[in-house]
Amino acid sequence: MAPSGLMFAFAAWSSMVTITQAGNESHARNASAAISPLLLVSFDGFRADYLEKYPLPNLREFYSDGVLVDHLTNVFITKTFPNHYSLVTGLYAESHGILASTMYDPVMNRTFSVHNHSIDAVWWNEATPIWVSVQNSGYKTAAAMWPGSDVAIQNKTPTYFMKYDSKVSFRDRVLSLTDWLVRDEAVRLTVLYWEEPDNTGHTYGPDNVTEMTKALKEVDDNIGFLMQQLKSKGLWDKINVIVTSDHGMTQCSPDRLIQLDKCLNASTYTLVDETPVAAVLPRTNVSLVFNSLSKCHSHMKAYMKTDIPDRLHYKNNVRIQPIILVADEGWTIVQNEKHLRLGDHGYDNSLPSMHPFLAAHGPAFRKGYRLPHFNSVDIYPLMCHLLGISEKPNNGSFSSTRCLLASESCLDLASIIGIVIGSLMVLTTLTCLFIFIRNRVPNSSRPFARLELQEDDDDDPLID
Ligand SMILES: [Zn+2]
Repeated sequence: MAPSGLMFAFAAWSSMVTITQAGNESHARNASAAISPLLLVSFDGFRADYLEKYPLPNLREFYSDGVLVDHLTNVFITKTFPNHYSLVTGLYAESHGILASTMYDPVMNRTFSVHNHSIDAVWWNEATPIWVSVQNSGYKTAAAMWPGSDVAIQNKTPTYFMKYDSKVSFRDRVLSLTDWLVRDEAVRLTVLYWEEPDNTGHTYGPDNVTEMTKALKEVDDNIGFLMQQLKSKGLWDKINVIVTSDHGMTQCSPDRLIQLDKCLNASTYTLVDETPVAAVLPRTNVSLVFNSLSKCHSHMKAYMKTDIPDRLHYKNNVRIQPIILVADEGWTIVQNEKHLRLGDHGYDNSLPSMHPFLAAHGPAFRKGYRLPHFNSVDIYPLMCHLLGISEKPNNGSFSSTRCLLASESCLDLASIIGIVIGSLMVLTTLTCLFIFIRNRVPNSSRPFARLELQEDDDDDPLID
């Protein structure tokens, strides 16, 4: 009976999967119905496990009535600009062209720095951020300091935006965004950026519990202010809000320095970008430079551009230099000076310390639902779905995220296992019942046999 029970359970599971897929198809057909505005918020450098280590009562309230994804695999290199552009394009850095904080483009013979030329659209035009797509669909957008949102990418800035200024407080950014949302109903997408807890993480290191507690208390207060503003302006129940981050943070140390000058004469190369992923442009013999760097330090890997592992998706762009150096977690690459930040990010995106999280709340999202993981590039197709616009080609997957949505008839693995085990228990019970009833049949015939015997006994005296 066990094999037939398993077959029944498998058939039940198969039919449920079929129902789920059918549900997706019908939902896709209705995707354009009832579109709520969407607010995407990034708190820079919010490492996923801060959620387990710090109280964060406002953030907990936010996702307890919504959804939480424990950690996201972000894109390599795990720096601020590459990851913020990935969030709004769904593309790996090699495809959207914002590859680092400092880049050199050999075709244009120009250098990009987040501090100097970041508002020149030529660096950003390889991709289409979601606000451009929303505007091309006939709606309006608003942005508060999101990296790239003050650049006329493909000749369009967001409808409402602020020029980047780190001195503008979180509260002023929120007040501007919510005013734009209230005043103009055509605003469908808003994006909001805040510099903490990244700044504190860099200055003190994520292991400094005292300073990180203060910084995260302030971040949580800001989340509380955002929720309060959305409620007071009548937006809370109408707007879908996604809160996420670009990357995590790891502890560095003066004891973990890799000094390139100890391995190679500085005149032989240009150091385009620094730690923890250094971009090296050799001035003389590439092989000579590579051989020296590849033997430089046991906690640093050197890659020729063509040999960068495919899983990093960091190879196919002219702005990636002929040699890149990748430090192990917590190690810092310097040329000669001992400039050091106690916390840093940019390392391999497979490291949990580099991962951010995602929380979301709003009419589109389930309540009290939790997923362990998906990729940060999956947020872009999710946002396109929420806004009812077509996705540009991207590296994300909507199917990874759809279980977050209230409209999806989605069963998670635990539910499927529970239903299969439940089905097996019912089958086992039915089987036992059947065996019990079948064994009862001979017992019920015994009284007749005894009666016949008694009749025989009764007959005997009569014959006598
Ligand atoms: Zn950042």
